Amino acid sequence: MSLDKFELICSYFHDNGFDKIAIMGGEPTIHPQFSEMMFTAQTYFECVYLFTNAIQSNRLLAYHPREKDSIIYNFHFTKYINEKSLLLDESGERLLDVIVDYNSPVEEMLTDILTITKIAKNRTKVQLVLNNSSNIFKHKDLIVSNINSLYKRLRNNDVKVSFECAAPLCFTFGTDLPEHNHNTICPQEAVLIDGSYNVRFCNLYSSTLVNLFTGASQDTIIPFQILRNYVTMESFRNKSLCLDKICKDCLYYGSVCNGKCHIGQEIINREDIVEHTLIPWLK
Ligand code: SF4
Repeated sequence: MSLDKFELICSYFHDNGFDKIAIMGGEPTIHPQFSEMMFTAQTYFECVYLFTNAIQSNRLLAYHPREKDSIIYNFHFTKYINEKSLLLDESGERLLDVIVDYNSPVEEMLTDILTITKIAKNRTKVQLVLNNSSNIFKHKDLIVSNINSLYKRLRNNDVKVSFECAAPLCFTFGTDLPEHNHNTICPQEAVLIDGSYNVRFCNLYSSTLVNLFTGASQDTIIPFQILRNYVTMESFRNKSLCLDKICKDCLYYGSVCNGKCHIGQEIINREDIVEHTLIPWLK
């Protein structure tokens, strides 16, 4: 992504009411103009969330997060996370993003997380997240066990930890999980723009909705209403997939849950949900 077009994109979303941006990759710090891009993002948005593996720590060190900004470190690149790359002298929030799956090596992970939180001098909050691109229903029992094990043991070690659960209600219902936000209505208030300026519905979707730029030299940004139309179209398509698969048989649909992105995914089939959910009317 070029700096010029990145600035146009920032201005476009800012002018259309967006106040937050998440910068993610790949790995943002490998961009040669990383610093300029972060500065641009801060110029247009109140909050900048940077997701990083901290690979190019020299570029990361030049970044100055503000109080409302967050840096979210990918725990699975622990070798790059150190006292320097955590920017402990700078403002803002530091989060350690820990993806938990059915086959996660809990003991090893616990040791590594404790090492990082010790280095971070209690400045880093750990957030446990599900691997949302996998079939969370098929391996539900193991995933839940790993989440609970890590959560409880981190709490016992006085680590600030949260469970950021993005799963639909038929996954969490009646299941012993750490405290989490039970809101499983996905409002679709965000879009993802990839490095080729393609708009994607969210990071669970690899397909392209539309390119953000049009015109002979691809330098004119599409009207915001057109972008909104594409997102609405995809949202309807996803709702239709969810309803068709199982949500049509669910009393919660539309009031407390709308299937989120998970249920529409091809990797999750109805049988997996029925077998592992505790919602009685889905059995
Ligand atoms: S609405 Fe769909 S995704 Fe949500 S709990 Fe019911 S079946 Fe599951």
